[in-house]
Amino acid sequence: MQSKIHVKKNDQVKVIGGKDRGKIGKVLRIIPEKGRAIVEGINFKKKHTKANPAKGVQAGITQQESPIKTSALMIVCPECGKQTRVKHHHLDDGSKQRVCAKCGGTLDR
Ligand SMILES: [Zn+2]
Repeated sequence: MQSKIHVKKNDQVKVIGGKDRGKIGKVLRIIPEKGRAIVEGINFKKKHTKANPAKGVQAGITQQESPIKTSALMIVCPECGKQTRVKHHHLDDGSKQRVCAKCGGTLDR
């Protein structure tokens, strides 16, 4: 089952669960089919890289962000700077806009 995802790429989010609780980062990528997102600087995991001389890649260990469940993420409002829930505001032209539940500022820009 696919759950609805409240975060979008480039959103500023705060982690509210897991080992990175309290950290803030920017959403780099959403993986809708898994209900997860990659967030800048969050959930770093070591990754072993195989050498690929054709691409100039050396073997080694790199740190890379792993997907985190979007249910562990709260949006941080760019207007008021608080972690907030998202409200959907219906515009006259039928489109939807996400707004901050606290200050009413737009989250989509
Ligand atoms: Zn706000």
